Amino acid sequence: MKEEATFDAIVVGSGISGGWAAKELCDKGLKTLVLERGRSVEHLKDYPTAHLHPWQIPHRGRMSKAFLEENPLISKAAGFGSDNAHFFIRDQDHPYIQEKPFDWIRGYQVGGKSLTWGRACQRWSDFEFTAPQRFGYGIDWPIRYKDIAPWYTHVENFIGVCGNADGIEAMPDGEFLPPFQLNCVEAALQQSIKKNYPNRHLVQARWAHLTKPKEIHRQQGRGQCQARNLCMRGCPFGGYFSSVSSTLPWAQKTGKLTIRPHSVVHSILYDSQTQKASGVRIIDAETRQTIDFSARIIFVNASALNSNLILLNSRSSRFPNGLGNDSGLLGKYVAFHNYRASLHAEMPGFTDRYYFGRNPTDAIIANYRNLHTQDTDYLGGFTTFLGAYRSKGKLEAQSSGFGAEFKRAMTEPGPWQIYMYMQGETIPKASNHVRLSSDQTDPWGIPRLITSVGYDENDEKMTQDFLRESEAMLEKAGCTNIETHDNKQAPGLDIHEMGGVRMGRDPKTSVLNAHNQMHTVPNVFVTDGACMTSTGNQSPSLLYMALTARAVHHAAQELKAGHL
Ligand SMILES: Cc1cc2nc3c(=O)[nH]c(=O)nc-3n(C[C@H](O)[C@H](O)[C@H](O)COP(=O)(O)OP(=O)(O)OC[C@H]3O[C@@H](n4cnc5c(N)ncnc54)[C@H](O)[C@@H]3O)c2cc1C
Repeated sequence: MKEEATFDAIVVGSGISGGWAAKELCDKGLKTLVLERGRSVEHLKDYPTAHLHPWQIPHRGRMSKAFLEENPLISKAAGFGSDNAHFFIRDQDHPYIQEKPFDWIRGYQVGGKSLTWGRACQRWSDFEFTAPQRFGYGIDWPIRYKDIAPWYTHVENFIGVCGNADGIEAMPDGEFLPPFQLNCVEAALQQSIKKNYPNRHLVQARWAHLTKPKEIHRQQGRGQCQARNLCMRGCPFGGYFSSVSSTLPWAQKTGKLTIRPHSVVHSILYDSQTQKASGVRIIDAETRQTIDFSARIIFVNASALNSNLILLNSRSSRFPNGLGNDSGLLGKYVAFHNYRASLHAEMPGFTDRYYFGRNPTDAIIANYRNLHTQDTDYLGGFTTFLGAYRSKGKLEAQSSGFGAEFKRAMTEPGPWQIYMYMQGETIPKASNHVRLSSDQTDPWGIPRLITSVGYDENDEKMTQDFLRESEAMLEKAGCTNIETHDNKQAPGLDIHEMGGVRMGRDPKTSVLNAHNQMHTVPNVFVTDGACMTSTGNQSPSLLYMALTARAVHHAAQELKAGHL
């Protein structure tokens, strides 16, 4: 049978943002093609390790020496192990060029990184949307919190987010399912911070877990989170949100969706007569055939840097430097989250207390820096994630790692430990950029991406401030043996890369308008991390989903009005 080649809409990528684009487009009755470079992954069927015990997994979850030597980059990813390695790429299959060290973490399959993400889902506040303009860095966001708030609500209700309504100005409340509880040591730290720092708030963070599913979640075939904390293997209960368990099957049910795996998008095709994009060119990863698909609107959701790559590679006589790139800004102002700094401490006492189950969430201290005014010698803010747990056995017995004393110690809960880590804003700069290689291609003949992204003085100052302030908070709470770390990890390992196709008001200083629509190619929408004007300090994926739903709404209206 001949493959269908014409659709109302094409979505490039099937991860967190692409899944949302597909769902919203199909819900609006648009015949939608999702082009995904990786293999197919189906909910339940393709979670091969979901029910395995540690001893059933090769090397109990660790990777072999040979694998680590062959894959030094991807094996650094947070939580990566032999139980979930099948949801990540292999280094040698997907080469790129690091002009400066940049650990680009990727998951190329249907579902993208939605299968392995950490699920933290805080809303941005107006502090983040207005900071670049108030403090003079970057350009102004073309939207404010009020523009996106209804779309946050729309997304939260569908994906299911647990948390408390805490009433914190820097971390707006949303539509929450019941939260996971703080344990006794987290609660003690919360009280100490409340007493000593009236403007700092330690609360439970917000997470895309179904603690108490509602009808809309049951309609997706998802059930309650069992707190197994094995999420990165794919959840057989659908307890956390992924495209594979939620948005894609929902879109399938409308009868409007076609997902085409093994479709490596090469470029977006431009029609100089209509002055719009006419479709998308792919290379079939299995047959190596080049195939063109056409559509009235195109959503680019290949993840931030891949969306940059595709647009840069979409060259025509009208756009010789990449689609929509009249300003020359495409690929520039790439930023990320600074994840370098962490602390570890012991909390004396509480030894008669424990907790139940495996909590898949962390607590959070909402950003307390540079909110109303710039009160530090650096720009931007940071979020602090943290948690407390009991180690196994007396610490001194652990080091031996074998013997009767070690075994006995393993049956006893040890002292309470606390960890804290920073998720810091970085400041977009034109010099932090990606571009295409002029002489090296990937295995599909597509130019390799060159990453030229690094830290700056601002990041150094923020890192030191975070460590100083966090140490002081732990000391005041009575913690001992406080250790501070700056691991100096390369950008990229944070897995929150953003920018390059930023939103703004002026086509001279931005590529997208307030609806994520290209200023110069109005039927192309970019709604993944590439669109970000600044990084803020909150985990970004909830915002990508909300921006996507909002952009689809706009695109559908424009289509109906005959503007596209
Ligand atoms: C371990 C880990 C923890 C994380 N924790 C959090 C968290 O707690 N909170 C948070 O907000 N974010 C978190 N993230 C980041 C989050 O996963 C990403 O922000 C999110 O997945 C981005 O969505 P996306 O749709 O842009 O990209 P992805 O989900 O990566 O999807 C992109 C898709 O596009 C496909 N694709 C790429 N190039 C092409 C091409 N040329 N042609 C066709 N298809 C293509 C890919 O195969 C992929 O399926 C975490 C990520 C990881 C890995």
